Amino acid sequence: MTDFTATRARFDLPEGVIYLDGNSLGPLPRGVAERVAQAITGEWGQMLITGWNKAGWMDLPARVGDRVGRLIGAGPGTVTMGDTLSIKVYQALASALELRPDRRVILSDTGNFPSDLYMADGLCRTLGPDYALKTVAPEDVDAAIDESVAVLMITEVDYRTGRKHDMGQLIAKAHAKGALVVWDLAHSAGAIPVDVTGADTDFAVGCSYKYLNSGPGGPAFIYVAPRLAEAARPALSGWLGHEAPFAFDLDYRPGRGVERMRVGTPPILQLAALDAALDVWEGVDMNDLRARSIALQESFIARVEAGCSDLTLASPRDPEIRGSQVSFRHPQGYAIIQALIAEGVIGDFRAPDILRFGFTPLYLSPEDVTQAADRLCAIMAEGRWDRPEFHARAKVT
Ligand SMILES: *Cc1c(COP(=O)(O)O)cnc(C)c1O
Repeated sequence: MTDFTATRARFDLPEGVIYLDGNSLGPLPRGVAERVAQAITGEWGQMLITGWNKAGWMDLPARVGDRVGRLIGAGPGTVTMGDTLSIKVYQALASALELRPDRRVILSDTGNFPSDLYMADGLCRTLGPDYALKTVAPEDVDAAIDESVAVLMITEVDYRTGRKHDMGQLIAKAHAKGALVVWDLAHSAGAIPVDVTGADTDFAVGCSYKYLNSGPGGPAFIYVAPRLAEAARPALSGWLGHEAPFAFDLDYRPGRGVERMRVGTPPILQLAALDAALDVWEGVDMNDLRARSIALQESFIARVEAGCSDLTLASPRDPEIRGSQVSFRHPQGYAIIQALIAEGVIGDFRAPDILRFGFTPLYLSPEDVTQAADRLCAIMAEGRWDRPEFHARAKVT
């Protein structure tokens, strides 16, 4: 059984804060600051450029990738780290399209995170007028998979509502129709059990600064199924994805396996942060985490619905088809969230009317969840959100 009291002790949360936004930016785990300080002063400061060899910087994307891989069911040597998720989405899509040269359609859904859709659209424009991104409603994805589809690009958990797609079913359908699959695990990795190998996905991508707690701007990950890794050609063919970067050949030859999905110089300090942040997952069973996450979410929903009837549940009521977040709708959602943050409960707002709360059992207790629900309901009951300062929109919501 996972000891969640022990995992909670591994986080440095500010006094008096209940953090329901780890789905957007994970908090600081203990040990990360020390590890990064060591990378700066001990490695960079002392080793200078020799750190690439002596401190193993060059191997960090693969080494940390293997650690992330364990959380998503990926075998050693099938995941690498770097860049941001938007870039990794682009890379996976471009390689997948090239593997299906007789097809021209990327299929996705309107619940996807806009950046994924923008990247797909930009890629289609670069490839030419024959290529198109097609989007359908999330519930219509299955029916829309046909022989015209080259790549199915799906984000497993909807960033607004938390609605979870049936990964196994969609992948099986896509493969039956001859399409490849790019799976976005941004709201899955570290949130729910994931098994990219068992689900037989072709490509998977995700970010590390949400449930994996690598800090703002932490690197993304990309997984390529071993059966495709030697055939997938990288569109962003940077020197560090080359078979022999330091041969400085004028011709590009892709590196071995997923290594070819590296682009340029890896972000060593952010990788050091992630490497240390991943220590908190040792001894965590993802099935325990899932059970605890569902219990926390169910208790939050019940208490909010009992205490503030003005809020409408935007997430699926069935926890089995929900990720690790709960969302409610209210026309004054933005101001309500600002008032809640001012009282020490941090959630976030997503346009046009979504109040979003992430549930992260590593550092959230049942008491936190009860308190958060009670504070939210008190704010609603007393109209405390309706102050001018809570209506002023900040740049990041
Ligand atoms: C968070 C998120 C992103 C963010 O992409 P970045 O390039 O890391 O800023 C992209 N896609 C999805 C599905 C996300 O949830």
